Amino acid sequence: MTFSALGLSDELVRAVTERGYTEPTPIQAQAIPVVLSGGDLLAGAQTGTGKTAGFTLPILQRLTASAKPVTGKAPIRALVLIPTRELAAQVEESVRDYGKYLKLTSMTMIGGVNINPQIQRLKSRVDILVATPGRLLDHLQQKTLDLSHVEILVLDEADRMLDMGFIRDIKKILAILPKQRQNLLFSATFSDEIKMLADGLLNKPAMIEVARRNATAELITQKVYPVDRERKRELLTHLIKEYNWHQVLVFTRTKHGANKLAEQLNKDDIPALAIHGNKSQAARTRALAEFKTGKLQVLVATDIAARGIDIIELPHVVNFEMPNISEDYVHRIGRTGRAGSEGEASSLVCIDEHKLLHDIERLTKREIPVVQVPGFEPDPRIKAEPILNGQNRGQGSGRGQGQGQGRGGQGHGRTRAAPRTGNGPGRTSAATGKPAVRAPASHRSGGYNR
Ligand code: AMP
Repeated sequence: MTFSALGLSDELVRAVTERGYTEPTPIQAQAIPVVLSGGDLLAGAQTGTGKTAGFTLPILQRLTASAKPVTGKAPIRALVLIPTRELAAQVEESVRDYGKYLKLTSMTMIGGVNINPQIQRLKSRVDILVATPGRLLDHLQQKTLDLSHVEILVLDEADRMLDMGFIRDIKKILAILPKQRQNLLFSATFSDEIKMLADGLLNKPAMIEVARRNATAELITQKVYPVDRERKRELLTHLIKEYNWHQVLVFTRTKHGANKLAEQLNKDDIPALAIHGNKSQAARTRALAEFKTGKLQVLVATDIAARGIDIIELPHVVNFEMPNISEDYVHRIGRTGRAGSEGEASSLVCIDEHKLLHDIERLTKREIPVVQVPGFEPDPRIKAEPILNGQNRGQGSGRGQGQGQGRGGQGHGRTRAAPRTGNGPGRTSAATGKPAVRAPASHRSGGYNR
C-alpha cells in the first residue's frame, strides 16, 4: 500500500516521503480514504499509531481541493482540538510539514503564553487552527476568533480531553460551530462518556480501530527492576550511567516528585529537567527542544505533561513510580518503540507498588520480566506502605490537583486516582510472613502468587 494509492495528491506524497515514511500505517490506510470522502469518523487509536498524519493529510487535501476564491481575510476552515499544549504544538508542526507544498496556513493556539501575538496572528490568514480548549474559549470571549466557517472538526485524544475536565469547554465550542461540518473523533479508549460525546457529535461515522486497546506495543522491551522505595534514585542513576542511556523519559506521579528527581539527577551529573503543568510554556518548550536534540539526557515528567511528547525513536522510558491507573502505563510506554523503532520501558518497582504492577500485567495480559540489579536487592525487612492519593508520604500534592492544564472541576483525582490502602493479597509470603520479593524471571517459581 502506498500513500498515492490512498488518493493523496503528489504534493502530500512528496512531503511524507521526505519525512521518511514509506508506507501508510494501519490507521492511516483506514482513516485517509474515509476523511477524503467527507464522512464522519470515530477512530480508536492511541499515540504512536500515526494517527496525526491519518487526519492531517486528508484534511490538507480536502481544504486544498475545495478552496474557494475569497475576498478579504480567508476564514478558518478546520479546527483541531487537542488536550495538551505540547501535543497541539506538535500537531500543528505536522500540519505545516505535511502541507509544505500546499498553500494552506495553520496556527497553534495554546494557553500558558501571551495571548496578544495570537490575536495578531489571527488577523492574517489561518486555514487550520490547532488549539487547546481553554485558550480557544478565551479568544471566543474576547471576540478575537471567528469559527463560523469551520468545515472540519477534529477532536484528538478525546479520552484525555474528558479526563482533564474539558467536557464543558468542548460543548461550548461545539455549540458555536456551524452545524454542517465533517467531524473526526480520535480516542485511545472508549468510556461511556466518550460514547455519549460521539453519539451527539458524529453523523453516521465510519468506525475504525487499530491496535487492541491496552495492548502494549510489541517493539517495546519491558523490564521490572525491584528496588527499595528510598533507593530508586540511586538505581536510576546507576542504570543511566552503567548503560549510557540517553534521551530517557522518566515518569513520576507528582509534580513535586518530578522536580525533586530532576534536581537529584543533576547533582549526580546527569542533565535533567522536569516538565509539568506548573512550568511556564516557555520552560516546557525549551526542555522539550533540548531533550529532542539530545542535549538534555533526562526529561522527568508527570503523566499529563508527557501526554503530547512525540519523539521518534525515543529509546528509554522509565517508570520511576508506577502509575495508579494501569492504562497510564500503556500511554507512558507508548512514548518508546514508536512507528517501527525499538524501545525499552523500565519500571522501578518497590514493595508498595506490587499491586499496581499486578494490575498492569493483568491489563496488558503479559508478565513483565524482572531484572534484579546486584547490589539493589530489596531489603525484605521493609514493609509495604500505602500509596496515598497518588503519592508516598510527605511528597506534596498528588495528581488529584491536576497538571495546570485542565479546566473545570473534573481533575484526575476525583474520578480516577482512588487511593490505594492495602498491599493486595499474595504480596506477603504465607510461609514466612515476610514480604514476597520476586525472583528474576528466569528463577521465578510457581510460588509467586500473581
Ligand atoms: P502519532 O501517532 O501521530 O503521534 O505518530 C507517531 C509517530 O509515527 C510520529 O513520530 C510520526 O512521525 C511517525 N509516523 C507517522 N506516520 C508514519 C508512517 N507512515 N511511517 C513511519 N512513521 C510514521
